[in-house]
Amino acid sequence: MTMPKLNDPALLKAQNYINGKWVDGGAGTIEVNNPANSETIITIANGDASDATLAVEAAAVAFQSWRKKTAKERSGQLRKWFDLMVEHADDLGAIMTAEQGKPLTEAVAEVMYGAGFVEYYAEECKRSMGNTIPTIAADRRLQTYKQPVGVVGCITPWNFPNAMIARKAGPALAAGCTIVIKPATETPLSALALCELAERAGIPAGVINVVVGTNSREIGMVLTQHEAVAKFTFTGSTPVGKILMTQCATTVKKISLELGGNAPFIVFEDADLDAAVDDCIATKFRNCGQTCVCTNRIYVQDSIAEAFISRLKTAIEALQVGDGFAKDTIIGPLVSDSAVKEMKVLMDDARNHGADILVGGNSHELGHTFFEPTLLTNISPEMKLANEEIFGPIAAVQIFETEKEVIERANDTEYGLAAYFFTRDVGRVMRMSENLDYGIVCSNSGVFSTEVAPFGGWKQSGIGSEGGKEGIAEYFETKFHSMGGIES
Ligand code: ADP
Repeated sequence: MTMPKLNDPALLKAQNYINGKWVDGGAGTIEVNNPANSETIITIANGDASDATLAVEAAAVAFQSWRKKTAKERSGQLRKWFDLMVEHADDLGAIMTAEQGKPLTEAVAEVMYGAGFVEYYAEECKRSMGNTIPTIAADRRLQTYKQPVGVVGCITPWNFPNAMIARKAGPALAAGCTIVIKPATETPLSALALCELAERAGIPAGVINVVVGTNSREIGMVLTQHEAVAKFTFTGSTPVGKILMTQCATTVKKISLELGGNAPFIVFEDADLDAAVDDCIATKFRNCGQTCVCTNRIYVQDSIAEAFISRLKTAIEALQVGDGFAKDTIIGPLVSDSAVKEMKVLMDDARNHGADILVGGNSHELGHTFFEPTLLTNISPEMKLANEEIFGPIAAVQIFETEKEVIERANDTEYGLAAYFFTRDVGRVMRMSENLDYGIVCSNSGVFSTEVAPFGGWKQSGIGSEGGKEGIAEYFETKFHSMGGIES
């Protein structure tokens, strides 16, 4: 199926959203395709740098009034936006499955996860307080308060077309910032549907803007270099993040970056093996392996390696591959032809270096961008998939002997986003959580994403956090007011 009938067809938009208006783009049109069957869902406006500039200018004007609203007023409008997201979760999920490919249940779960950020920050903005500092002189008073940073430029990826926007726009708007979003060209429809709901929630013109375009670098240049953009936030690959960070340097923008990962998944000999297998499947194969926190390197202690691999093999063989709209689908298509090519490059390299292929390894018989869930063993350190972010449904198992050794191997990467480990030894739980150089560590569970806690990478996995108290701090400046001339 390319696109099911929506309950509310007006959520499927074909234009950019700038300054509260639905507008055509300066660069003609783009087709948005469903990766499961390569069919066109809809043809939409193709924006360019001049559209992005108009959007930034509109956001700068809107900022002057949005920042003056009370936190309670902004909170009320965000709460309405949240309510509309929940009310329309099925349609938003269907739009996402059509443009991105992920199974419908996963898509609807993402919509609810994304909505959670809007709800949370609608609450949190009312509690963003400064301090009164004990004075240093009798005639002085010292205080700090929080003010919104300003216009936010935002570039988001195709793997979470809704949530990566919600977890930036939620705290940004709550703090009093306005935002210009460039969603991935593959998945613009989820972003535009969110604007339709923002408009219905009464969020004023210019506060949220979306510019879609195939001239993505030019649009990126505007968002990273325009003087009126005070803060830039990006979720995507580490190499692109570095380019964007450099571009932001010319105007010293505040930046947040959520970049690549290379997550280790470590199973010790005392682990609950069934739980470890279940969560390994969940973290490795969610979204067809296309998330920055997906398990990337599986390390299993030698004494239980055979048992773990055999159970993992059975679980992978049971994964149902298919169209995201089909009821039993667990694994949808990859997002694009180039993603399939990447899998082939990794597989050829692994074969050439002597990996054993226990399950899969090839394009799936369904064709298009479907790829077989794959299990490999006998992994050597020089293989690409032992070092690079796989971003697809390939699980590669390595074997270790000691805790010290596995910590060193797990930390031996420039990335530091998420790490997982399974053990029943409470001392080891603490040691591992302290010694893994990652922004997120998960013991005995592979599920951790929530709006109430900070999500952020160490090392070259990023700067800043999304979620929790930390998430809204990214959109505030702290002002120190030193007040003199006070009679004591
Ligand atoms: P895409 O396929 O959209 O180009 P990338 O991951 O390469 O995906 O880049 C993500 C986004 O980052 C791009 O859509 C673009 O907006 C921005 N970007 C990438 N490279 C540059 C660049 N050199 N200059 C400005 N923006 C860039």
